[in-house]
Amino acid sequence: VQTQPKKPDWIRVKAPGGAGYAATHKIMREHKLTTVCEEAGCPNVGECWSQGHATMMIMGEICTRGCTFCNVATGRPDTLDAFEPGRVAHAVEKLGLKHVVITSVDRDDLDDGGAEHFAQTIRAVRHRSPDTTIEILTPDFLKCAPSALEVVVEARPDVFNHNLETVPGLYPTVRPGARYFHSLRLLQRVKELDPTMFTKSGIMVGLGEERQGVLQVMDDMRSADVDFMTIGQYLQPTSRHHRVDRFVTPDEFKSYEKAALGKGFLMVSATPLTRSSYHAGDDFARLRAA
Ligand code: SF4
Ligand code: SF4
Repeated sequence: VQTQPKKPDWIRVKAPGGAGYAATHKIMREHKLTTVCEEAGCPNVGECWSQGHATMMIMGEICTRGCTFCNVATGRPDTLDAFEPGRVAHAVEKLGLKHVVITSVDRDDLDDGGAEHFAQTIRAVRHRSPDTTIEILTPDFLKCAPSALEVVVEARPDVFNHNLETVPGLYPTVRPGARYFHSLRLLQRVKELDPTMFTKSGIMVGLGEERQGVLQVMDDMRSADVDFMTIGQYLQPTSRHHRVDRFVTPDEFKSYEKAALGKGFLMVSATPLTRSSYHAGDDFARLRAA
């Protein structure tokens, strides 16, 4: 058995609790919504939920993929709930969100990968909260016709995020059901379909990648015209998941941030606790105000 490196003191998180956290929790339960914050065991849940920031996960709690870093259950998913887009829109309104991040499980069982459900959710949120900016974090639509992606883009989210997750060499062990160049091409197609839409992608580090590989991913993303990049430390959800190879130091994160900004990303978040949706609204608002 390989031992895990010891968690360093820079991986410190706020324990969940307090009035703000409880209020967010209540709204999620009342609207029967699933969040990636809980499903993925995100370390930032205490901080984010106390400010009313939650990332909703649509299309059920069961995923058709089995990425080895991810805590979401794999199996046969539930049938789609036609009322879910409306419930998401209600919850966004109730939380008073200026920016919402909506993600989903992967739905290889559906012909369109859930594209229409994503589009309906975007439209429902837009209808109830026209001033809220909408960021979606989508699956890769690997087994779908190209029109699936078009359906989502036509619903006009403000930010289209799809994570590459890791360097291509680690795909077979980290993201076995996915293809690196397919995901990269998906990001590029979003920009081709709508050049005004912001695109975003992210990776985790500490899975066994080399620095050179991370710099190459940055170049690949920029060649696909990706605007925003996130880099965060991988944390192992349970002992059954991919092991942590090492903890990347805060200085290395700073150096990645500097490198990414130098390559032309409009916005970069690279810290040990960065997640796709961490402070996404604040960062986006800053960008728009600039
Ligand atoms: Fe949820 Fe994202 Fe915050 Fe994590 S970083 S708690 S996933 S909103
Ligand atoms: Fe988790 Fe997404 Fe992979 Fe499904 S596709 S196992 S939700 S990371």
